Amino acid sequence: MFKMKVGICTLGCKVNIYESEYVEDLLRESGYEIVPFDTIADIYIINTCSVTNESDKKSRKMINQAKRRNNNAIIIVMGCYSQVKSREIDADIILGNKDKSKIVEYIEEYLASQKNITKIYDLGKIQEFEDMEINHFENHTRAFVKIQDGCNAFCSYCIIPYTRGPVRSKKPEDVIREVTNLVNKGYQEIVLTGIHTGRYGIDLEDMNLEKLLKRLVEIPNLYRIRLSSIEINEITDGIMDLIKNSKIIARHFHIPLQSGSDKILKLMNRRYDLDYFKEQIKKIRSIDKDISITTDLIVGFPGEGDQEFEETINTLKELEFTKIHTFPYSARVGTPASTMDNQVNGVVKKERVRQVLDLSKTQEYNFYSKFIGSTFEGIVEVHKDGKVIVLTSNYIPVIVSNQLESNQIIQVKITKIDNNNQIYGKVIDKYS
Ligand code: SF4
Repeated sequence: MFKMKVGICTLGCKVNIYESEYVEDLLRESGYEIVPFDTIADIYIINTCSVTNESDKKSRKMINQAKRRNNNAIIIVMGCYSQVKSREIDADIILGNKDKSKIVEYIEEYLASQKNITKIYDLGKIQEFEDMEINHFENHTRAFVKIQDGCNAFCSYCIIPYTRGPVRSKKPEDVIREVTNLVNKGYQEIVLTGIHTGRYGIDLEDMNLEKLLKRLVEIPNLYRIRLSSIEINEITDGIMDLIKNSKIIARHFHIPLQSGSDKILKLMNRRYDLDYFKEQIKKIRSIDKDISITTDLIVGFPGEGDQEFEETINTLKELEFTKIHTFPYSARVGTPASTMDNQVNGVVKKERVRQVLDLSKTQEYNFYSKFIGSTFEGIVEVHKDGKVIVLTSNYIPVIVSNQLESNQIIQVKITKIDNNNQIYGKVIDKYS
């Protein structure tokens, strides 16, 4: 007999997705039933995001949706939005980004006392990584593993260091054990994720991402490791050698550029200039000609005039990213950039986003078109809508018509790209 029904809504990044997965496990182990968030539940949990003003708005919308769905339900809000805006929230239990692993205790404390609970910690004082370990990844073919939390970089536009606190890393032996368990459970690909993944280990003794990766690629039967995101100045020569010598490391890197103008990069407090960025990209591409590099870009940052934007477009063309995730600058209260002069108006931002997305679509098409007629090995993913995708190491999602099981490794030949950059292929051979 289940205790109560719980619906969970997760907003934002892979770290939030991982944490919600862990929370789901804890609840199941304690006898709660997990139901879809858009159905009637006794408890609703909203794991919020606050990276942009839009994310805050979406967080509020999901909280109100839950209340309307069942106004007798227990409403629990956690994550980045509540970490910085808890006073704006009306809910039964409010947590920030610490103590998500104590969710069951807080629910049972609330059920016993019927008193609202708010637990928002000053993350600046937190040094310990909040241990979490998953042993499966519901409805996912690839498993995310959170290896690190927090960020010390304080880019001038970013709220994350305030919502997630300083860098805290999971102990390497815990990462190894978690990945080994997932591999033994049959997961072919592990996605390493964190808030600032490249800074993994700076808070531990004699540890860093390169050392961790060197140990991970030794795990028996591990087919593929993917890094969710990494900063350009954290791809060390040692990591490049590892990529060169081990096919286990996926041939796709998501490396945020943020701006293609040195003037704006300085104002953003980013830790590189364009010459360095371009040089590193050249080095990465020399490892494997099929490597895919995607990026994040903010347009309309304060001080970005027509000239700086033109520089950005030229830089993007020169670097030939496979895809450019583009965001209009969003002023986050409490960050230095929010009070800078020369804020850019919304209409200009919108037009710049449109231009960059157009360029991204063209570059994405050019990248995929290079591989028509080529054969790749990949992992099968069967999507909820029945679509069968083979995901290659360099992150090409190839659509095939065969009925296949998720998680198989197969060879696929790319045959066609359509105008929406959908990639089609045919199965050449099956391995497992
Ligand atoms: S590196 Fe910069 S953009 Fe990334 S989370 Fe840290 S402060 Fe934010």
